[in-house]
Amino acid sequence: MTAEIRLFTCLTDNFGILIHDPATKATAAIDAPEAGPIIEALERNGWKLTDILLTHHHADHVGGVAELKQKYNCRVVGPHDKSAAIANVDVRVGQGDIVKVGTLLGRVLETPGHTLDHVSYVFDDEKVVFAADTLFSIGCGRVFEGTYPMMWDSLLKLRALPDDFRLYCGHEYTASNVKFALTIEPNNPVLKARAEDVARLRAEGKPTVPTLMGEEKKANVFLRADDPAVAAGVHMKGASGVDVFAELRERKNKS
Ligand code: ZN
Ligand code: FE
Repeated sequence: MTAEIRLFTCLTDNFGILIHDPATKATAAIDAPEAGPIIEALERNGWKLTDILLTHHHADHVGGVAELKQKYNCRVVGPHDKSAAIANVDVRVGQGDIVKVGTLLGRVLETPGHTLDHVSYVFDDEKVVFAADTLFSIGCGRVFEGTYPMMWDSLLKLRALPDDFRLYCGHEYTASNVKFALTIEPNNPVLKARAEDVARLRAEGKPTVPTLMGEEKKANVFLRADDPAVAAGVHMKGASGVDVFAELRERKNKS
């Protein structure tokens, strides 16, 4: 039976995400920015929280863990502590580990760079990836703790996923990302089409997530730093993917 997924806003621009297994009624939250909206979403659907899958230690991703664990006695899965400790974690996971949510199988990808502990969860049968603050739609996370080569490697791991996988990320940053990407590739037709979709969705008050990996591979400049068209966009013809990526990330930081 296919998973049911719900996405909603937490805090200001974080996404709360629930993945539910109809076969066993198991339900996992991907990160826990704050408890309130997650509890509301669970109650709206008549679901009970069985698991929390954490991606990294930042407060806007773990802030609701203590309250949710107290309320539901759920299992908390998270990465190994690297730069900072995450409290209340029951099971620590790393590259290649499998996490079960009822009968749903999540595969752990280590995707460091934004933080050293950042992991993403891939549900192959459901064709979804939860990439939190590593890969955003038309953007990527800031490189706070890792290095540019480390973050570029993480993006390449995500880029290896099939085109028909849906990308769920940690924040509603797409409009800002599109604006920046158009300064690099003003004539990319897929990006221009995405810009129109994003403007419409935001005007309607709707989220711009999930998107398809196939679309991201065509329109996300950060995922395409080794594409000659993107290198040309930052006047770095012939430069390596990682060098172009670093330049893009620094320009976005200043934009
Ligand atoms: Zn973060
Ligand atoms: Fe975040």
